[in-house]
Amino acid sequence: MSHPFVYLDYNATAPAKPEVAEAVARVMAEGGNPSSVHAHGRAAKALVENARAQVAALAGAEPKSVTFTGSGTEANNLVFTGAVKANKVERLLVSATEHDSVAKTAAATGMTVELIPVDHVGAVDQEALRDLLGGSDEKTLVCIMLANNETGRIQDIAALAQAAHEEGALFHCDAVQAAGKIPVDMAALDTDFLTLSAHKFGGPQGVGALLRRPSLDVSAMILGGGQELGRRSGTENLAGIVGMGLAAELALKDMGQMAVLAKWRDEMEQVMTAYAGEAVIICREVSRLPNTSLVALPGVRSETQVMTLDLAGFGVSAGSACSSGKVSTSHSLSAMGFSEDIAGSAVRVSLGWKTTHEDVTAFTEAWKNMRDRLSSKARSEVA
Ligand code: PLP
Repeated sequence: MSHPFVYLDYNATAPAKPEVAEAVARVMAEGGNPSSVHAHGRAAKALVENARAQVAALAGAEPKSVTFTGSGTEANNLVFTGAVKANKVERLLVSATEHDSVAKTAAATGMTVELIPVDHVGAVDQEALRDLLGGSDEKTLVCIMLANNETGRIQDIAALAQAAHEEGALFHCDAVQAAGKIPVDMAALDTDFLTLSAHKFGGPQGVGALLRRPSLDVSAMILGGGQELGRRSGTENLAGIVGMGLAAELALKDMGQMAVLAKWRDEMEQVMTAYAGEAVIICREVSRLPNTSLVALPGVRSETQVMTLDLAGFGVSAGSACSSGKVSTSHSLSAMGFSEDIAGSAVRVSLGWKTTHEDVTAFTEAWKNMRDRLSSKARSEVA
């Protein structure tokens, strides 16, 4: 590798901006328990409340709607325990392309869970949702993500939430991948619950938030000292919360940079498809995150591509990486009707605030070299 490692996996996690890392280090050094009544504790409490306002602003919500959690995963779990309990939900409708922290948690509730299908470009089928909603008198919660972690596909949440509300259902939106990349306005989206995760927009790992419509409640999943107004006990992750707040403020301020990333991403895809006619860019023609590209190279396994690109000094991922590092066929791509040939050969490239134009150009060249070495299509062109 003749260049520094190029990280192009921002949908997995985004490195913290220097201001965020400094703020986190400062708060860790100063410490403080927001529950302490003395001045030091009151200062810590003020930091939490400042961060609450910053996080709420990223999602167009009121500060009082924010409950800090230990991750996006925990916030999604809180939906299926606390929001379900407090609002007497009896039935769940979950889109077929949700993240595992929604899909698996919903399945574990023991309640009736019905999957809302998506079409071949990943859009949730609104007719199917309406049919499912009309078919039951049970109190229903609909869960649909704003943007998909693998394809970047953006859903028409306002229309889907309206359909849910017309039938008296509640609506949860996992906005973990969208926040910081596209505008998120909880009021305009008309969602009842919304999930955020700090590390996806340049905050620390291990801190997230569940936002709710202030008129709705969430019962606690984690009991104890009654922090977060009793909705999530445990001494606050002060440094993490401060980092999340600052990262939210910076993400909002720097959102304009996303249009530049989209331009570089589009250029990259243009070069790839002109070079390799067999390459498939998933969700290219539809509304998707500006930083995300999911590129399939039929005939070459995703894992092989990821390893080859890693050796060449580029960090990308094969569909959705799970904690074990194992790669299984993406349920999202299967739900969209892609064959194993496409789904098993898709690699996700996700750009972010540190990405330069040179990074994208160098990656595109490395991808072309990889394709020439690994693809039988390339070999047959030479023969
Ligand atoms: N929801 C989506 C769409 C995600 O992409 C992720 C993480 O990849 C999560 C939820 C989980 O967030 P966290 O990593 O904070 O647990």
